[in-house]
This record gives sequence, C-alpha cells and structure tokens, in this order.
Amino acid sequence: MMKDWNIHIPDLPPEGEEIVLNVPPDKMRQRIGEDEPLTPVENLTGVLRVEPGRKGEIMVRGRVETRLSASCDRCLKAFSLPVGEDVTIIYRPAEDQEDLEELEAEDLNEAFYSGEDIDLWPVIAEHLVLGLPIKALCREDCPGLCPKCGRDLSESACQCEIEAGRPEFGALSAIRDKLPEK
Ligand SMILES: [Zn+2]
Ligand SMILES: [Zn+2]
Repeated sequence: MMKDWNIHIPDLPPEGEEIVLNVPPDKMRQRIGEDEPLTPVENLTGVLRVEPGRKGEIMVRGRVETRLSASCDRCLKAFSLPVGEDVTIIYRPAEDQEDLEELEAEDLNEAFYSGEDIDLWPVIAEHLVLGLPIKALCREDCPGLCPKCGRDLSESACQCEIEAGRPEFGALSAIRDKLPEK
C-alpha cells in the first residue's frame, strides 16, 4: 500500500503503481529542514508513477505542486506562490547499507535507498526548492514601491516619478533631443 510519499517496495506490483499525492501543509512542515526555504500554505498535490526497473532500481516519474507563502520582492506584500516541478528520478539500491549517507548521487535524477522502503520526501523537497524563482513577484508586472516615497505603486501612482528620473537618463534624453533627426 502506497501512502503519501512512502514506497514500500514489496507491495510494488511488477507493472508499477501510481501514487496520488494530497498531503496537507502540516505534514510537510514536520519534514522541512531548517535550511529549506519552504513554507507551504496548500496541500502538496501530484501524481507519481512508480515502476520497478532492473537490478532493484525503482523509477519515479511525475509532478508535484503546492503553494508557498512568500513576500513579493518588489512590493513586499505577502502572497501565495505556486511552485510546481517535474520529478524524474531513479532510486538504486545501496550495496552497502551502512554507506547510504555517504553515497553521493551523480546527478539530480539519481538517489539511493536501502531496506524495503523509499521515502520520497527528500527528493520532493529538493525539487520544490529548485522550483523556487530567483525573484518572487506577486505578479509579473508588479510595479513595486516608489523608491522615494515608499508608496505601493500598484495601488496608486505618486508624484515623485516625474522629478525622480535618474539624472544620467535625464542627461541622455536631453542629448538625444538635440540630435538631428535621421
Ligand atoms: Zn508585488
Ligand atoms: Zn513616490
């Protein structure tokens, strides 16, 4: 029986099986490490196809999605950020079970397991972290805050903009104005 992000290998049928994820934020929070900037506010959802391969390999393929609480890098407002990542990973059996911690996967699409169970959470968490944007924006064209008066420009414009034009740009457009037209 597949439950949440755990695979119990003896229960895996030869043709494989699908895991339908629907995990509440609370349950994710119990597993999120201190160095993982994940703040889920909605269920983790997704479908993962799990198939046994050769030599004890277990293939996992699918997609995971959730929403995280974030604050906009431009206007600082809190919003919920959708994060979704495709997951494709091959779990290989660790030959020496003692060394599981020391085994370094060659790439992101590879991991190791020992025993009869695979805990998918570390790989899911890794993918969610990778899916985080470099800049979190509440919306693509968020105008942000006025650097001068601090007003939220998505709510209303301020008067600063006219005078606050950067001097070098002002100088440049002054020169451009003087150039003869082609
Ligand atoms: Zn914003
Ligand atoms: Zn302003």
